[in-house]
Amino acid sequence: MKKRTILNYILTAVSLWACGLLLTGCQDPYAPTLQHPQLTSAHILGYSVRQRPIELITIGTGEEKVMIIATIHGNEDAGTPLVYKLLDKLRTRPDFLAGRTVLIVPLANPDGYALRTRFNASGIDLNRNFPASNRINNEVHGQQGLTEPESRILYDLVLAYQPMRIVSIHQPLYCLDYDGPGEDIARHMGRYCSLPVKKLGSRPGSMGSFVGIEQNIPIITMELAKEDSELTAAQLWDTYGRALLAAITYPELPY
Ligand SMILES: [Zn+2]
Repeated sequence: MKKRTILNYILTAVSLWACGLLLTGCQDPYAPTLQHPQLTSAHILGYSVRQRPIELITIGTGEEKVMIIATIHGNEDAGTPLVYKLLDKLRTRPDFLAGRTVLIVPLANPDGYALRTRFNASGIDLNRNFPASNRINNEVHGQQGLTEPESRILYDLVLAYQPMRIVSIHQPLYCLDYDGPGEDIARHMGRYCSLPVKKLGSRPGSMGSFVGIEQNIPIITMELAKEDSELTAAQLWDTYGRALLAAITYPELPY
């Protein structure tokens, strides 16, 4: 009787070991390590005048869409490293994405960025090239709305996704400006950075005018300081990161 018990014990131990071996052996070595592979995606929306790609990075899968645009004016480039830092942060804190999708255009004017100019490669101010009722046609704003591929890409993006709110990052006016029903969001963001909320007035044919006035979508123009282009991405994040997160989590607190 005792011998049988010992034998049973040995047999059980051996079968457990064999099962373990079998399970380990069956594990797929190519199984995805990323738990939410659908969480982040990047794709090219189109191309600039000089055929540089304009990219959209999407993170999250929720219903509420928040859009963030950086560097529509090519020489106001501090927003680009800042939004890449934001992306890193959102990857590590998916709780910020509960019920939300964040749509990021990290470099809206790649030709202007390469040429170190406000304008695109055709000399047009993209942030005056939108079809708003206050637009002024001329050689800098374009002779009509959407003459430029870059502004058309942003226009299509807004209409396709209908975001709940938009933040567009500029320099050097050092404030949180808003168009449309954006005042509460600007004030919410203002609690998390030193930028004062200021109503600068809608610029003719700007993205703010098109989005805020024509589409009635709140849009915050986040004007950083001129010298912010000298900051590292980490310094930019320390200065403005929480305000950007506040725009995403609005009306909830970002921390
Ligand atoms: Zn600007």
